[in-house]
Amino acid sequence: MRHQADCIFCKIILGQIPCKKVFEDEEVLAFHDIHPVAPIHFLIIPKKHIAMLAEATLDDQAILGKMMCLAPKLAEEQGAEPGREGGFKVIVNNGAQGGQEVYHMHMHVLAGSRPWKVPGLG
Ligand code: AMP
Ligand code: ZN
Repeated sequence: MRHQADCIFCKIILGQIPCKKVFEDEEVLAFHDIHPVAPIHFLIIPKKHIAMLAEATLDDQAILGKMMCLAPKLAEEQGAEPGREGGFKVIVNNGAQGGQEVYHMHMHVLAGSRPWKVPGLG
């Protein structure tokens, strides 16, 4: 697996920085966001270092699809209510103007009883 030495999320994947793990397999890792903005807020990341969504290629479609398909399953495991009355929010920030701060592509999954707002989005 390609990792980048100065990447905080690669260090989490390698166990060099701790995380509160939600899910892990050979391709992806999910862990709780250190600064949650909703009652349930975790990140899903590919183990392969992809700096940003815009740098993903068609070779990455399976992993991106897996992350997307895992989101509802893991959200419910973390306590998100199912169906139309429940639900969750998925966000991928890309680049400075997209609000990205950590340059290892990640999917935010947010859920839980309202009210809560994602800064800059609502
Ligand atoms: P973004 O603005 O999309 O790049 O979001 C990066 C997210 O990573 C923020 O919500 C941070 O709170 C979160 N974060 C940064 N460092 C850590 C860490 N060590 N463990 C868990 N989450 C982190
Ligand atoms: Zn990385």
